[in-house]
Amino acid sequence: MNLETLDAKKKNKNKLNGISHETIGDDHLYTGLETPMRKDAFKLTDKEKKEKISLLFEEIMHVMGLDLTDDSLKGTPDRVAKMYIDEIFSGLNPANKPQVALFENKYQYNQMLVEKDITFYSNCEHHFVPIIGKAHVAYISSGKVIGLSKLNRIVQYYAKRPQVQERLTNQIAEALKDILETEDVAVIIDAKHLCVSSRGIKDDTSSTVTVYYGGKFNTTEKITELQNYLK
Ligand SMILES: [Zn+2]
Repeated sequence: MNLETLDAKKKNKNKLNGISHETIGDDHLYTGLETPMRKDAFKLTDKEKKEKISLLFEEIMHVMGLDLTDDSLKGTPDRVAKMYIDEIFSGLNPANKPQVALFENKYQYNQMLVEKDITFYSNCEHHFVPIIGKAHVAYISSGKVIGLSKLNRIVQYYAKRPQVQERLTNQIAEALKDILETEDVAVIIDAKHLCVSSRGIKDDTSSTVTVYYGGKFNTTEKITELQNYLK
């Protein structure tokens, strides 16, 4: 294929993408907040997915010229497949969503609760390389409270997907709002993207901060208070 045809093909692809975004129907999962998933995403079992990914990853390694008979490399396709499905992308499967029990707010604690410095590892969906960061989540109880470790688990669940940081922030916030039955939720994420620090522009010092302030957190007062706790 000559370069011109390739260019035309690329342009067409972009155009198609443009149209498909504009004509998204309600029955599509392609919204900004939802991770774009196909409807048949769970037709294959985890075991079948791992077998398939292993074969495909072996192919990638083979195409790159790696010798798959080498002792150090031959287990890699299986390891990658297992890691994708069981660990770093396990949050794609709703079956892995943490079960969260609510408790009555017995202590009548009605100030903000902040769980800070939740370390997470995610992966950039554009390059499939790590995003490493800290999440800080806060809420003001509407009468219900959840166990502190659950806040952490919710962060980890959404981090274990191919992600963009903005979506990760909003997905955590929406999940908390839903579970805690309140709009008064805040999420702050400060993360380093390895696609920025280890390749491309190779900026090793920058980090990205994204925030979500819902309900009562939308006042300068509350934001200042929250930021004081995070110092
Ligand atoms: Zn990236």
